[in-house]
Amino acid sequence: MAGDASPTELSSELLEDVEDFVEANEGESTLSSERIRHVSDLMKIGNQAFRENRFEEAINCYSRANSVKPGDPVILSNRCAAYLRICQFLRHRPPSVSEYSPLSGLDSTIHAELALKDAEKVINFRCDSTKSYILKASALIMLEKYELARDVILSGLHVDPTSDPLKDLERTTVSTIGSRGHGKPERTDDFDCTVCLKLLYEPVTTPCGHTFCRSCLFQSMDRGNRCPLCRTVLFISPRTCAIRGNTKWKERNMHYSTSFSRVNLSLAEFYMLTCSFGGNGNPMLLLMYNIAWFNSFTLNNIIKKTFPEEYDERKLENESLTNPGGDFMPLFVMDVVLPCQKLHLNIFEPRYRLMVRRVMEGNRRMGMVIPDSRTGSIADFACEVEITECEPLPDGRFFLELESRRRFRVLRDWDQDGYRVAEIEWVRDISPSAGTTQREDLQEVINAAAEYAQSWMNTAREEAQQRQDRARLLELDELESMMPTTRDPELYSFWLTTLTRRRPSEKLELLRERDTNQDDCSGSPVFLINMSFVGTL
Ligand SMILES: [Zn+2]
Ligand SMILES: [Zn+2]
Repeated sequence: MAGDASPTELSSELLEDVEDFVEANEGESTLSSERIRHVSDLMKIGNQAFRENRFEEAINCYSRANSVKPGDPVILSNRCAAYLRICQFLRHRPPSVSEYSPLSGLDSTIHAELALKDAEKVINFRCDSTKSYILKASALIMLEKYELARDVILSGLHVDPTSDPLKDLERTTVSTIGSRGHGKPERTDDFDCTVCLKLLYEPVTTPCGHTFCRSCLFQSMDRGNRCPLCRTVLFISPRTCAIRGNTKWKERNMHYSTSFSRVNLSLAEFYMLTCSFGGNGNPMLLLMYNIAWFNSFTLNNIIKKTFPEEYDERKLENESLTNPGGDFMPLFVMDVVLPCQKLHLNIFEPRYRLMVRRVMEGNRRMGMVIPDSRTGSIADFACEVEITECEPLPDGRFFLELESRRRFRVLRDWDQDGYRVAEIEWVRDISPSAGTTQREDLQEVINAAAEYAQSWMNTAREEAQQRQDRARLLELDELESMMPTTRDPELYSFWLTTLTRRRPSEKLELLRERDTNQDDCSGSPVFLINMSFVGTL
């Protein structure tokens, strides 16, 4: 992240020049005069390079001098200044330049760290020189450690309260700290999910101490119950997965109805939870879950408050997946389904587990479509189904009860995280308008059919009772429970169709029909098609 221009620029004035190495001061040195001369030569070349802005070369000379005479404050102080100047140069290089001629050397942060190391040594030798403090503070500012820089500046001002460069530095750091405190806080990777590399959304902390977005963790666990980061086996069952807005599911699974995002398990619930994971209510395990979940809750609040804009973005992103909107439909590719059917499904494929979780967080609706073997794609017509029951199984599967609602045409479809999503268009029968004789005729036919269907249903039930065929009785109950009102000719026709067994191709044809018989104005074409089957019930 680029630092604020003001503090980093200011330090350049303080580091304009380097010190000369004075041989005469080396009287007490343990080095031979020959080696001292060598150091002095290196320092002269280095300082010349520094003054001509050839900082890499200067550093090279200072480093060689340092290897002959380690720990010399002048050498270290000059090298520190050179590191800082390079760091500054890199900081102020416009991105457009670095794109065209990338630097293969070290980056500005590494230069700042090297400068800091030298500055710390210099301070040890020259704790009474303000320049040492200026160097160290400048390095810290380059590293964007403004609070630490300020402490160093204050120590320096303790040595010389009149130092103008230190006072200037103090003003800038204080204003930077102030503006950061009130402005947008710095975003570090600490709040990123290691799976999606984005800001954590509804974070979950695993017992192994790793935090992921709830959806990322479960998506990863669809492929195996291990932590995506450290591969620890996790005992977080999808039973505890957030399935919001499904009251039936909540009623039936009271102690599992808690979502990770709400995290409001009572201790008793924790106990049951750990028991169900084979933990037998082990107090340690209980505590671990408690702490982990509490942390997730706290973390979510911190993220929400600290990065409100990014959080809202992530929320929108998540909602677009769980609620794709009226014209978009996630698809379960399996079979042709007609409106007014009850279905039972076992979801075990990872991609559909993900889809079901998203569907359950949204409006609980998805499309059912048959694959088209001719095109290798999917059929052009499909039916919307609503999940009325969702039971997550301990092994991660879902057991679903579904009711089919209405048909639609697939306009286009694409892949999303492994499953299909389609842009759709709702399809309705072309029915005669209310009040017309055609409409009255249609209603009459339907009423007659309804009477017939009722008597057929009664007969079928009696037969099943005589045979004591409980499965058949259950089937009949389900069929009857899906019966729509006779006031909706289209839906009623579809329901009649569900009383008979049809080949998928026939069912698909029915989904496509809207108005097959232009000449016959007696009404719903689908209904008329069905009439020919009623006799076979
Ligand atoms: Zn994530
Ligand atoms: Zn882990």
